[in-house]
Amino acid sequence: MKNVDSLEISKFEALASRWWDPNSEFKPLHDINPLRVNYISQQINLAEKQVLDIGCGGGILAEAMAHHGADVTAIDKAEASLSVAKLHLLESKLDISYLDSTAEEFAEIHSESFDVVTCLEMLEHVPDPSAVVAACGRLVKPGGLIVFSTINRNPKSYLFAIIGAEYVLRMLPRGTHDYAKLIKPSELASWSRQVNLELKDQIGMGYNPLTKRYFLQNNVDVNYIACYCKPLD
Ligand code: SAH
Repeated sequence: MKNVDSLEISKFEALASRWWDPNSEFKPLHDINPLRVNYISQQINLAEKQVLDIGCGGGILAEAMAHHGADVTAIDKAEASLSVAKLHLLESKLDISYLDSTAEEFAEIHSESFDVVTCLEMLEHVPDPSAVVAACGRLVKPGGLIVFSTINRNPKSYLFAIIGAEYVLRMLPRGTHDYAKLIKPSELASWSRQVNLELKDQIGMGYNPLTKRYFLQNNVDVNYIACYCKPLD
């Protein structure tokens, strides 16, 4: 049994042609991209690093990391998104290897191969996120970094990330996020500890609906990014 929710994949497939439209359903991802790439490059200099991006979609994050000099491989299970990602390389003139795979499948053939593994806004869309965390642990080299981002699960995150973003501000299509699948930082930490990953840094992401701007903050009640490292043996 693959750790893939086919309903989730079909939701992304249906939107795939709009990945690179900054005013589409993917606007929030375009808007947070500079913040998260800057954050990642503060954790590690991406230049010349072997990076794997898991759940890459149309390649918004993968391209930004390639612009920082990383040698990026990126995987997803939505074929239409991978096609869009590959097509966009013609425009960006970047060299990124896009492949149809899950983290678990990829870990079987590429163990300890990457300096950095990124898995952003993806864990809350899979049936068993702990298995993805474990696969990330296998994929990264000892001494390497894994960056996750997802949404916390509590009444405030329900109000902001689901009611606010999907129903009031309509920044995301209804049904994009399922409350039960949101992930507490403590849960992510416990799955990571089980596979000997150590928390290096964690930061929250906020949104001001008046200025329509995103910002990094200490508060991790709603959206957050967590950076783990795999210790040297
Ligand atoms: N990481 C990107 C896209 C996030 S959207 C970004 O932050 O910009 C979530 C992505 O995860 C979608 O492209 C979806 O197709 C992909 N996805 C969902 N389940 C997956 C799985 N089991 N394996 C690989 N990719 C998956």
